[in-house]
Amino acid sequence: MIQIAIDGPSGAGKSTVAKAVAKQLGIIYVDTGALYRTIGYYVRQKGVDPKDAAGVEALLPEIQVELKYENGTQIVSLNGEDLGDRIRTPEISMYASAVSAIPAVRTFLLETQQDIARRNSVIMDGRDIGTVILPNADVKIFLTASDECRATRRRDELVAKGMNVTYEEVLADMQKRDRDDSTRAVAPAVAAEDAILLDNSWMTPEESTEAVIRLVKEKTGK
Ligand code: C5P
Repeated sequence: MIQIAIDGPSGAGKSTVAKAVAKQLGIIYVDTGALYRTIGYYVRQKGVDPKDAAGVEALLPEIQVELKYENGTQIVSLNGEDLGDRIRTPEISMYASAVSAIPAVRTFLLETQQDIARRNSVIMDGRDIGTVILPNADVKIFLTASDECRATRRRDELVAKGMNVTYEEVLADMQKRDRDDSTRAVAPAVAAEDAILLDNSWMTPEESTEAVIRLVKEKTGK
């Protein structure tokens, strides 16, 4: 069993790299951001202010979030329904970021994340994997890149999905979300003390993946 934690700000390419590493190593990729996005989606659907901690907390008993794998692809369901790309919009990114600062939401999702890592070898990406979710992970990487590189990548990703967004909008949203995520009181998005910092601004996705695989081999000898 192996646990690899990949944390870092949005648009650093965590999911692209983690997916490729999971494939090469034959382990499971867990995208934890999808869990927060799912809660954000539900909160929006109910018309509740995502910053209203009491209002959001009151909704949690109505929510069942499940992680499943089909042909190696993660499916997150909300009360039995797969939401697909509906959780990938810029608006839901903001909802996810707001609800993720509420301690009850983090506690609500903790067991789902730790349970999957107890039963499988995983590479898990998020903001607090190395610090809170898997503090004893075999390898911890904090993946980052310049704001400009991250915003360009995120814009290209959203445009490829047919969304109508500009570079400036994406950059502004991303910087706000990073600021909120890294300065919040609970589980702020910071590198664990024993994490390895990897700046992939000038790397292709393949080079980033290779760099991570090399670090995993160095750390685990596998
Ligand atoms: O990674 P992704 O952009 O999908 O995450 C959406 C939001 O969920 C982040 O902006 C962050 O606020 C929150 N998140 C978190 N902890 C994680 C993963 C995501 O707080 N482990």
